[in-house]
Amino acid sequence: MAEPVESAMSVTGRSLVGAADVMGTGGTFHAVDPATGARLEPGFGECGTAEAEQAAEQAWQAFDAYRSTTPEVRAAFLESIAAEIEDVALALAARVQEETGLPAGRVATETARTTGQLRLFAGVVRDGAWRQARIDAGDPDREPVPRPDIRQRSVPVGPVAVFGASNFPLAFSVAGGDTASALAAGAPVVVKGHPAHPGTAEIVGRAVRAAVRKHDLPAGTFNLLQGTSTDLGHALVTHPYIRAVGFTGSRRGGLALVEAAARRPVPIPVYAEMSAVNPVFLLPGALAERAAALAAGFAASMTGSAGQLCTKPGLVFVLDGPDTDRFVAAASEAVRAVAPAPMLSAGIAAAYESGVGTLRSIGAVEEVARGAIGGPLASPGEPHLFVTTGEAFLADGRLHEEVFGPAAVIVRVRDEQRLTEIVERLEGQLTATVHLSPGDHGTAARLLDRLELVAGRLIVNGWPTGVEVGHAMVHGGPFPATSAPATTSVGARAIERFLRPVAYQDVPADLLPRELRDDDPDGAVRWRDGRPETDRTGRGGDR
Ligand code: NAP
Repeated sequence: MAEPVESAMSVTGRSLVGAADVMGTGGTFHAVDPATGARLEPGFGECGTAEAEQAAEQAWQAFDAYRSTTPEVRAAFLESIAAEIEDVALALAARVQEETGLPAGRVATETARTTGQLRLFAGVVRDGAWRQARIDAGDPDREPVPRPDIRQRSVPVGPVAVFGASNFPLAFSVAGGDTASALAAGAPVVVKGHPAHPGTAEIVGRAVRAAVRKHDLPAGTFNLLQGTSTDLGHALVTHPYIRAVGFTGSRRGGLALVEAAARRPVPIPVYAEMSAVNPVFLLPGALAERAAALAAGFAASMTGSAGQLCTKPGLVFVLDGPDTDRFVAAASEAVRAVAPAPMLSAGIAAAYESGVGTLRSIGAVEEVARGAIGGPLASPGEPHLFVTTGEAFLADGRLHEEVFGPAAVIVRVRDEQRLTEIVERLEGQLTATVHLSPGDHGTAARLLDRLELVAGRLIVNGWPTGVEVGHAMVHGGPFPATSAPATTSVGARAIERFLRPVAYQDVPADLLPRELRDDDPDGAVRWRDGRPETDRTGRGGDR
């Protein structure tokens, strides 16, 4: 079963279970080039329940040693993963393009985002605020009863299962945000690679494994399983050694995993990022000022990466007025000029065509533009732009659903009261965007006040696509944007999903974790009696 590793960038078709290369025994599957329809070599061994068990066991065995590593070791490990990915960047980019059809520029940007994300979490781990160290010192003289000494910190939850996303082969896949934040938290990871890009998954997986070896970490700290069956994902989510799940994909897939996790004898959290239509609101002043520029920006955001982004703007609400027609005409022209790009897989292309068909079948919806037709693509994603009314939107739930691909609907709304009704009826969203000019601030203030209840990120005079990875970013939102609206899957706070707070009451100093001792040698950021401690590190605290 165990095979020698050929080279850091070799694609062998094997899965990575602890230190072993494992050929799944449930048959073979191949990646497909979505631009040409050609089958790509090699074949990948299908993993199933047996391999899920082996990987979960490996991760569990690694957990004690890995959670005990110092922040410095963990930070250096994350930085090494980034460096290992950079070392194979050329071969990696070629395989990503073959397997996804994404253009070179997008692949380069996503590679930089992935390595930047790993380095961000290295900084988060070193900084120490993630541990949420809090001290409420005891008071034996307090009346009527003494106050106990209570100290708190966060600990990792245990091994995490990560589901790679089809639409982000790097930044939301094997070494993407879920993996980086789980490893930063001290949690070993078992990744189920997305079956649309298994070669990409293996190259990145080998880079992570090289970093595991470099830092002499337990082999089960990282595992990668390849397969196309839902049984594999189900086996992982229901395995008793798996303690949390990170997922990006469809609402149906995410909900299936949420249900499977809830039915376990010991239920676990599933952090699923699922579907959003990312509404955009164009206010009258902005439209009067720059209708053509708004149309160009919207068309670019809607059709970039063939619309296969979780933040693609799928609905544009326009308060009806003299400039609405100008916007619709300019947006239609911009969409007609967009060439079809390949969709990520034949399955996603078929789901897109079905979604477009549904929009076409709605009587009150008019198709005003479609992208240039033609070209030899096997799975083309032709842009489609539709227009409807606020009344139709309120009456038909199908207009509220995500169509994953380069399609969007412009909704003409008669007045602000109707707009408010619409906002009240919107499902949870990853983002909501408002375009305004100074004269729109009254309407915008009311709108933003409602939208903060709907979306995880509010954007003014920009576009929702292109998610900055940083400390303040939120990529989350109420259901169905995510299954866990109190969290984010992008940015520094993503680490919180894989941590659990523990309070230590009246524990003697020599038995306390280092960061909770009065003489903490690391000087980590912490709170005393609910207030940040005076800065002991030069990185925070009272100023
Ligand atoms: P998906 O079908 O949800 O699959 C994502 C991952 O979850 C795959 O590894 C899949 O495994 C696994 N999975 C799905 N259902 C499962 C189940 N019932 N039990 C266990 N594992 C399960 O998403 P996709 O393949 O990326 O794309 C399909 C559709 O998802 C798209 O057309 C689009 O509508 C939506 N999508 C949305 C976003 C977003 O960010 N909003 C992103 C990507 C996709 P298998 O493939 O092996 O079954």
